[in-house]
Order: sequence, then structure tokens, then C-alpha cells
Amino acid sequence: MRLARPGNVSGMPERRGGRPVASAEADAERAALVEAAFRIANERTTEWPERHSDGRPELYLCECAALECRARVALTREQYEAARGDPQHFIVFPGHERLEIETVVEVHDGYSVVRKPDVVRHIVVAADPRFTGVRDPFAAATALSEHVAARDARRAKEEP
Ligand SMILES: [Zn+2]
Repeated sequence: MRLARPGNVSGMPERRGGRPVASAEADAERAALVEAAFRIANERTTEWPERHSDGRPELYLCECAALECRARVALTREQYEAARGDPQHFIVFPGHERLEIETVVEVHDGYSVVRKPDVVRHIVVAADPRFTGVRDPFAAATALSEHVAARDARRAKEEP
């Protein structure tokens, strides 16, 4: 099975000219959506039968906020599961933390765990398949993206 790239299915708006397109909050929400999409992809790989663990590290996608990131991190299943215990936590390649939108809570050999702020909790919880039990998480992520885009469009209209 080939996974769709998270960025192609989530309906994420592209950044225009490298400039932030809206408020800091909207930026944080978009980042949260990207990270949630990578997490969804990682969660899918945990279901592959050949991934069932013998204690050796497995490769996971970096769950950072960069849509174009293709870095991999190596974690044992146990380490991965430990990080998955909190829906606000994401696993990133060292150096891919974005301190203006998240907090580093753990630093390990080869990966860090970051915590998303409460302001985007509604997004990262709703897009966490473990939390929602939704087995088609890309649909959930798309719905969230559409919700955020619609809200931004509404706000843009309200602003003079
Ligand atoms: Zn990354």
C-alpha cells in the first residue's frame, strides 16, 4: 500500500510567496493540521503486520509543521507508544521544532517530542485517530482543514 502524501489530501492552503497568510492563530492551526496529518500517516503504518515489534527501532515520519518535510525518525514501538499517550504530543526530527508554536517536552537520541499549545487542542484531538476512533483519518483531517479555511474566509470578509 502506498500512502497518499498528507499534504495532497488535507486540502491545506499553500502558503503564498512565503508570507504568512493570516493571523498567528491561523498559522498555529495550519501547523497543527500538518502535524496531525503526519501523525495520521504514522498511525497507519503501525497497523502494518510487518511492523509488529521485536524491540528494534522502526522508521516514522517526522511530524513537524513543514508540509514538505520528508525526514524520518527512528523509534522503538515502545518509544512511539509513549509519545502517542497524549494527543497534543508530536514526534519531530531534531531541529524541526518550531518554538513559536510548540514546546519541546522531551529530547531523545534522534528525535524530540513537542507539545502543541491548548489553543490548537481542538484540532489535534479531533484529528487523533486514537482519540476519535475514526479509521478514515484523512477524511477527518480534510474536514478540519475545510473548517479552518472556511473560518479564515469568514474572518477575511469581516475585516475591512
Ligand atoms: Zn520535519
